[in-house]
Amino acid sequence: MEKTFSMIKPEAVLGGNAGKIMTAVEESGLKIVAQKMLRLSPEQAGSFYAVHRDKAFFDELIENITAGPVIVQVLAGENAIEEYRRLMGAANPAAAEEGTLRRLYGISIEKNAVHGSDCAETAEREISFFFNQLEIMQ
Ligand code: ATP
Ligand code: MG
Repeated sequence: MEKTFSMIKPEAVLGGNAGKIMTAVEESGLKIVAQKMLRLSPEQAGSFYAVHRDKAFFDELIENITAGPVIVQVLAGENAIEEYRRLMGAANPAAAEEGTLRRLYGISIEKNAVHGSDCAETAEREISFFFNQLEIMQ
């Protein structure tokens, strides 16, 4: 059993697609074991995306992720990290496979509806950024 971190981004929450994304997650077999809605401050967003600080798209990334509420989740299952990345599809919705979350609900590479951890180390960091032990169902 592995855990991964998921974020339903503002464009998906404001667009009314959060419920459909959660349904797709549940239907995939992954379990939602923690969840909350919040709005990130620019400082919090910068800290969460610190690894992208030097990228050309950093300022836009912060602007987009703070534009409205996000829903952050911990997902659990066998190979959860890889399984969720498969369900999300490629970062660019136009290049994402048919039926994936980003293909269905992404607007552009900047507003691609969902985020998911890319490896075990990132998952641990991202989960503990938002959740404490008591908030994660065992
Ligand atoms: P990937 O599967 O490509 O690794 P990812 O979700 O892990 O996708 P990152 O490369 O970690 O994406 O980038 C984080 C976020 O920054 C993306 O989800 C997207 O919103 C934004 N982003 C990534 N690349 C670009 C880009 N070239 N231009 C603008 N925004 C980008
Ligand atoms: Mg990445």
